[in-house]
Amino acid sequence: MACVANQFPAKAQTTGEKMYAHVIDVGQGLSVLLEFPKGAVLIDAGAAPDREVALITYLKNFFQRRPDLNNTLNSVFITHQHIDHDIALDDLTRNFKILNYLDNGRRRVTITEVNHIWMQDHYSQFGCKYEAITFDKIAAIPQHTDLTDDLIDAVGGTVDPKITVYSGAFVARPTGWSDDTYNDPNNNSMVIKVTFGSASFLFSGDLEETGIAQVLNLYAGTNALKADVMQVGHHGSRNAITTQWISTIKPKYAFISCGHWDDGRLPNGKPKIYTTYAYAHPHIESVQILEDSLTATRPVAFTATVGTKGSYMGSIPQFTTKTIHKTYATPWDGTIVVTATSTGQYTFATHQ
Ligand SMILES: [Zn+2]
Repeated sequence: MACVANQFPAKAQTTGEKMYAHVIDVGQGLSVLLEFPKGAVLIDAGAAPDREVALITYLKNFFQRRPDLNNTLNSVFITHQHIDHDIALDDLTRNFKILNYLDNGRRRVTITEVNHIWMQDHYSQFGCKYEAITFDKIAAIPQHTDLTDDLIDAVGGTVDPKITVYSGAFVARPTGWSDDTYNDPNNNSMVIKVTFGSASFLFSGDLEETGIAQVLNLYAGTNALKADVMQVGHHGSRNAITTQWISTIKPKYAFISCGHWDDGRLPNGKPKIYTTYAYAHPHIESVQILEDSLTATRPVAFTATVGTKGSYMGSIPQFTTKTIHKTYATPWDGTIVVTATSTGQYTFATHQ
């Protein structure tokens, strides 16, 4: 919890066999910058509306520290089409070079689903390549192995990171899925794994229980989804974590990206819609599963505020406090920088 901003990785440290996952504090949203010795990848470009500038500033400062990367993101993944995951796409194209753009290919347009469609329509103007990732494409691979190619895995190096995708949009409606489940962008989130030597990270966007069940089924009996560090799905919502999901991934560490508990709390106590306060993220059930399951413990335990009930029809959301021993989360840690060595050692630096 202490301010350790001076532990931000310096350039000299990035030339060895280390990578960094920068879980950028974007409030209610997700954006993770993966920094490798020979490249950079962004998983989601989301932020709360008032944090978009902070996201771009963070990336500008990063590229100033890494002039060898020439302002270039080898790949940008958008796990699914919600603005808290893609609000900054347009800003990204104005400020940085993007070599490869990957999303789940969906084109359903509602008021909150415009940014990725704009990018699908304009990527070629930026000299960028594009690939749509669907569950169906992955499931059609013999033995259901993961999917990777030159767009997904566009970074090399002495220790060559391996980037693979395990799920994407459901083109064919899974048996038993209602219209709401099938059309819900969250359930069409990409699942992405990054390995760097012995280090491993798993990202699942906002994938919810129904999508999780499909992915678990596809990889049943394999270690495909196992990873040391996991992004907790859907900002720590109770609908995006199950004990089976955790027992399959077997994470040592996990991080949640969402806003501070009272972000979006109006003076009368009522919530602004689409805010951390309205959703009461992260939910206590999710944090409890993580605290029961993670194998690595934080240096110091502390008390954090977690949600017990989100707002329904404008009602006042409810919260409680909980002692945290293991879970990392942007509301209590600020930006989190995970240093991973190719031998599978991890260091977490927090910047609250
Ligand atoms: Zn989200």
